Order: sequence, then structure tokens, then C-alpha cells
Amino acid sequence: MKSLALALALFTTAAVPAHATPGFPWKLEAPAAAAKAGPRVLLMYDMEGISGISGPNQFLVGEPDYPAGRKLLAGDVNAVAAGLFNGGASEVWLVDAHGSGNPEADMPNELMDKRLKWVERDHAFDPYVDISTRGTYDAVAVVGMHSKNGAGGFAAHTYTIGVEIDLDGRNITETELVALSFGQVGTPVILATGDDKLQGNLSDMPWLKYVKVKDAIDPSTVTLRPLDQVHAEMTAKAAEAVRDIKTSKAMVMTPTKVTVKAVPPADLSVLEGFPGIDYHDNGVTYPAKDFHSAYRAAMPIIGVMRASLSAIVMRTVMQEAPNGAELRTKGTRALVKSWFDAEGGKVEPVEKPAARIERGDH
Ligand SMILES: [Zn+2]
Repeated sequence: MKSLALALALFTTAAVPAHATPGFPWKLEAPAAAAKAGPRVLLMYDMEGISGISGPNQFLVGEPDYPAGRKLLAGDVNAVAAGLFNGGASEVWLVDAHGSGNPEADMPNELMDKRLKWVERDHAFDPYVDISTRGTYDAVAVVGMHSKNGAGGFAAHTYTIGVEIDLDGRNITETELVALSFGQVGTPVILATGDDKLQGNLSDMPWLKYVKVKDAIDPSTVTLRPLDQVHAEMTAKAAEAVRDIKTSKAMVMTPTKVTVKAVPPADLSVLEGFPGIDYHDNGVTYPAKDFHSAYRAAMPIIGVMRASLSAIVMRTVMQEAPNGAELRTKGTRALVKSWFDAEGGKVEPVEKPAARIERGDH
């Protein structure tokens, strides 16, 4: 029996790649040494998990309470920024990762801590993967985050409405997406803020400093914590997070099977039976060697999924608008015109739409 147990133990050890963290689709590495002047921190924000925000009318542009939501966002960002500087950060770079539908950043410039600098590019970029380059930042702090789909958190979702992303069967949050993207270049996520459900989702990142800003009763109902308390805690924990960078971990994805699934209200069944795709149960599975390639491969699948979400919006527009039938006729005429123009060689090639950020993303 002893030799059998030993053999099994050996087999188990051998089956797990030597560098992987057993049971996880990633390995944990010590972060790279920080800049001499003090750590350079990337402060990335989302909006659903901002303190004081209790409904989508505060985080989607065009809704009546969106201006109030932006002020609440500024409160959290500045409270965290103050702590990062108190803790010794030499630079704090701000980036918007929320899809409010606003072509401008959701954080109002006039309310921003003047020490913060915007991450800027001369072209549209995806904050999740396009700015995670080695040696650029020493740590990442994520603010205003939300739980993954199905976790019962406030406005719970992953990437966009109706998406689930599994790594080796493990459903992950956007905070983990960010941690894996920056982990691939040796940069740890050191602080996160959001609701109680996200806090529960992140128990496998024990080095993370977390500030709970609200309790989610269900995806549309929350109990808010007082703003002054939350902000004081954010400043204190952000400072601690910078001081403790060395104890944090960079999460590096190991070669993994990725499944991108449509969950209600989205649908992916249009792909069923398409040759060459590993499709099952509204999801597509594929192998990926690292996180960045896993993420980029998910984009076309999510693109297909979006058609099912647009259909929901269009159905409502057509049914509710008094001139719905007229709109449909106009839309069809416009489509026919583009078709005839294209066949007649009259149009320039269509410019590829920016991959994101679209309303409802992140
Ligand atoms: Zn988000």
C-alpha cells in the first residue's frame, strides 16, 4: 500500500507542471523590484463597485444620475490616490476601464487629484491588455470593481453583459483578468475595492488589500457604507498596499484551457455545429499559452455574442417606438443602399470598429 501511495503521489506531482500552483491556472511570482524613486502605480477604475453607487442610472452615460455617479467615482479615486502617495508611490497613473458609453473618461478632470497623470495613447486602446508591458508599472490598484457573473454581487458580470470566462473550468472576475494581464509582465495587483461578493470571489489573492464599499443584497440592491468611513479606509489600505508591495504576488497564467461562455441574456448557439470550433453548451473552449493570447482569442467570440445582446435592444426599440415600423423600413433601405453602393464599387472599405469600449462593457 505504501508503495502504491508513493506511486500515486509521484504521479500527482508529475501531472502538475513543476511551476504551476496546484489547483490554479496560474503561478505566483515575486514582483519585480520597484523603481528607486518609489513604486509607479497604475490606478485602474471601473464604476459598478464605487462607493455610493447603487444603480445603473449612476454608471451609464445619459442616465439622470450619471453626473452624481462621476462625483462618487472621483471621491474613491482620490481617496485611493492619496493613500498610494502616502505609502511612497512616486507616480500614479490613472486609466478608465469602465464602459459607461461616454466617449470621454468617466472621471471628471476638474475633480481629479492634480498629482495623478492620465495614461494616454494616440489611438484607442484596451486598458486590460494594451498597457501591460514589462517595466512600465510596479503595481496596479483597481477601484470600483464588481463580482463575476453568477456571484450575486451588485451589477455582477465579467467583461460585458452575458459573458463568463473560465480558465481550466474556473470562472474568473475582471479583477483576476487584470491581475493575470499585468502578472504576465511581473506586475502585481495590490489593492481592490468593491462589494462584499467580489471580496469573496478574491479569496485566492490573500496578499490583496481590499476595501468593501457596500454589501450586495442581490444584483440590483445594495446596502451602502458611509462615504467618509470608506474613503478613510481606502487611503489607509492604499498606503499599506504600497508599503507591502514585496509581499504581493504577480499572477502568471500557465498554459490553460479557456472557455468563453454566453450566459443569459446572451446567446452563442449560432456557433453550434460550426466545424473546427470546440463548441458546447453556449461556450467555446480553446487552449492558450499565456493570458494575453487567451484574452485576445476571446474577443471574436464575445463579438459574436454581442449580436444576441443588440437583438434585445433592437426588439425593444422596434416594439416601443411609435414609429417602429417606419424605422425598420428606413433601416432596411439604408442597408440596401450600402449593399448596392458596395456592389457598384462606390464605397471605401469599412473602417474596422474599435474593439471597445462599448456601452455596458467592463
Ligand atoms: Zn467591470
